[in-house]
Amino acid sequence: MAEQSIFTVAVHAGEQAAQIVPVAGPDAGRAYQPVVTPVHHSVAYTYADTADLDAVFAGASQNPVYARYGNPTVTAFEAAVAALEGGSAALAYSSGMAAIHGALLAAGCRAGSAVVCAHDIYGATYALLRQLLATQGVSATFVDVADLPAVEAALQQARPAALLVETMSNPLLKVADLAHLADLAHGAGAALVVDNTFATPMLCRPLDLGADYVVHSATKYLGGHGDVLGGVVVVRDRAHRTALYEVNKLLGANLAPDEAWLAHRGLKTFPLRMERHCRNAAEVAAWLAADDRVAKVNYPGLPAHPQHDLARQQFGGALFGGMASFDLRDGGQPEVFRFMDRLRLVRPATTLGDVYSLALYPAMSSHRALEPETRRQIGIGDGLIRLSIGIEDPADIIADLDQAL
Ligand code: PLP
Repeated sequence: MAEQSIFTVAVHAGEQAAQIVPVAGPDAGRAYQPVVTPVHHSVAYTYADTADLDAVFAGASQNPVYARYGNPTVTAFEAAVAALEGGSAALAYSSGMAAIHGALLAAGCRAGSAVVCAHDIYGATYALLRQLLATQGVSATFVDVADLPAVEAALQQARPAALLVETMSNPLLKVADLAHLADLAHGAGAALVVDNTFATPMLCRPLDLGADYVVHSATKYLGGHGDVLGGVVVVRDRAHRTALYEVNKLLGANLAPDEAWLAHRGLKTFPLRMERHCRNAAEVAAWLAADDRVAKVNYPGLPAHPQHDLARQQFGGALFGGMASFDLRDGGQPEVFRFMDRLRLVRPATTLGDVYSLALYPAMSSHRALEPETRRQIGIGDGLIRLSIGIEDPADIIADLDQAL
């Protein structure tokens, strides 16, 4: 059968994997299947035969045995995200940050190793490298991933375990040339780890372009409703799934079954939502770009965006994401605070990818962990506001931004 559309995969993937087989009573041995995967709360699982349990412990099967090793509701969600990203397997985590940490450890980050990382990465990812992994002997070099010769030089000098980039950076919406970065990473013996949270598989599937680990904060577009904290890593090579699994068996940063169920439910409408997010964002970005009260708009769909051509080619030409950021003209922190306080429809909240439109002040929240000078050097100024455009009517979003400006 031809490869199915992402709209079809999102609805069906991961479901109906588990059969329930009553072992006693009149239906003993007669398997049935719930249409929607149930929430399995059980921490432990028993087997009729201890030899079967021993085989599960030995890794001969992916059947559940203990919740930190796996859970059927979580497995269904993992299968769904793996299918959407075109990977062979996935591992879900309790948050996007846990997923990034898990991917870096699985990729070989340990004392004495190095990571080369995009310099305008999400603030907590920057802090994970600078504040936590640094104390454990992992060194980090930060580069502008739009500057491929600089990336190559950093890779050749550091010979890192991993090159870590975001498909679209947070909050400046720079687009990473993943196919070239994969070649450069592999040429230096490094794994390419891509945070695809902003782009999502609707715009681009990094594994198809050569990435080794694709990371999501499932808290964002995959869940989509602002009610789940979760993360997931997808891999092409099953051996990488084993590496993730062995690390997480010890870290225990597991996605809980209720969260997995909610995220999986969100996933079914993710392509529908994402299409709308992107169309709304394109409209809002064009409106902002034409407004005198705005100094600069960062949105890959605008022809003036420095990587617009790359974005067209890498994302297929129709959709450019649901995120945009802009600088207030002659604005600093007081003007941004006033703008945020005046918003009525757009929620001034610290997240993204929800059905609701959201505004965030990077200098105060997502990029607070960066030193102010570093922040300004990479272009995150005191007047920069990040928007996550929701699925409301774009005219209502624009009307709210207009009155707040
Ligand atoms: N990656 C990106 C691009 C993010 O924006 C975030 C959070 O905002 C994360 C990872 C971390 O995700 P979580 O908050 O689920 O840990």
